[in-house]
Amino acid sequence: MRKLNSSHIDSPSNQVQRNAYDVKKQAAESFRSIKGTFDVLPTASSADGRAIAGSAAWRHVERTVVDVLGRYGAREIRTPILEPTALIARGIGQLTDIVSKEMFAFEREDTHYVLRPEVTAPVMRAYLQHHLDQERSVQKLFYIGPCFRAERPQKGRYRQFHQFGVEYIGTDTVRADAEVITMMVDVYHALGIDDLRLRVNTLGDENARPAFKEALQSYLRPFADDLSETSRRRLDENPLRILDTKNPRERELLEEAPSLINFVSTESRDRYDALLEMLDGVGIRYIEDPFLVRGLDYYTETAFELESDLLDSAQSALAGGGRYDLLASEIGAKNPTPAVGFAAGIERLFLALESAGKIPVTDERPDIFVVLVDNEGDAWATSFAHQLRAAGVSCEIDLSGRSVKAQMREANRVGAKHVIVVGETERASGSAKLKNMADGTERDVSLSADEIRLLCIPD
Ligand code: AMP
Repeated sequence: MRKLNSSHIDSPSNQVQRNAYDVKKQAAESFRSIKGTFDVLPTASSADGRAIAGSAAWRHVERTVVDVLGRYGAREIRTPILEPTALIARGIGQLTDIVSKEMFAFEREDTHYVLRPEVTAPVMRAYLQHHLDQERSVQKLFYIGPCFRAERPQKGRYRQFHQFGVEYIGTDTVRADAEVITMMVDVYHALGIDDLRLRVNTLGDENARPAFKEALQSYLRPFADDLSETSRRRLDENPLRILDTKNPRERELLEEAPSLINFVSTESRDRYDALLEMLDGVGIRYIEDPFLVRGLDYYTETAFELESDLLDSAQSALAGGGRYDLLASEIGAKNPTPAVGFAAGIERLFLALESAGKIPVTDERPDIFVVLVDNEGDAWATSFAHQLRAAGVSCEIDLSGRSVKAQMREANRVGAKHVIVVGETERASGSAKLKNMADGTERDVSLSADEIRLLCIPD
């Protein structure tokens, strides 16, 4: 058989090779993180003109969140990033912007998946799926993790962003509403952000909303021509969403609109007053905002939003939340399952920290850098560094076979607090000089991990 010249035919293996080549070439030239997503690097960086704090600052923020929420007895829940699309569609409502155009959703083998755009519905799903009501009558669950929305990226609005939040499930008390608000505010205070504006409102119970919706529609219909296209669409589908419009003409119209507070029952009003009294009691200032609504029907009673002037006005919301007593039944609960919670954006928190000049600074400098004079003692050096680390000392050691001078430079670059230089003589004598890099002093030490630990990490 005539041997074919492989360069003239496009065999599958050729194609694979070519594709692999293309991928490599592209990787070298142009692979970049997707717009609206970003890498968190060990040190602060920037992307698309925005500053991104380093990973240690993120960890500090996350630890603070865990610490503050933990003081309330909230326990962490971790749910998958992937959820069934129907959960989110039912949990968030078919008509909201999130579901209609902002989800990263896909289908695979007849199953519809979505990258979670928020975490409340997933937490409620997990609560119901695992019968968490049987473990505790009130579950206080918190989460920290990424969410995904296919929105147009801009400052403070990303496609992958991070939220932390809390869901108190199984309690309908006003005290629970108050705790959720105070714990949210506590997190910002703990991180040094005091420039906060809390807006609160009551949506009343499930009976208040239909009557209010109708009244709002009847009021707005004659002005339909003055409304933006989005608001006109919302007028029929979800008129409450019009209330948080930023359009000046619409805001003007809304001044004369019926007010939700006039539609809520005496009981809801009392609840609301009790909540305000509790907030007064802990010294949290708030603004009552009758226009603050949550567009979805499962939200009831308390609604709130936390803003800060440290953020640009277009994206000034740090966090938001409220009571959602009807969500559980929306996603299949048999019994009434009252719940209240908040969700906060971590990127927005960082924007606020940045403009307040309060990005946390974390010391990641190693306690000691071991400089090696020769390569002879490789096995010894590995073991010595290992003993130091086992003793609790953070220790770095040359990994590139560099000269002593270059290793000293590296020790400076990583900010090592101490340096110890070890060669044949030191190994033989079992002692070496330990240099304190802060004051330049040197002292003789035995090559014992415990002794070095006492000198490097004084209690
Ligand atoms: P929401 O679930 O829409 O009430 O959002 C809760 C919080 O998450 C908001 O107050 C923002 O701080 C933050 N957030 C929501 N969407 C985004 C986004 N696309 N990018 C960054 N942060 C967001």
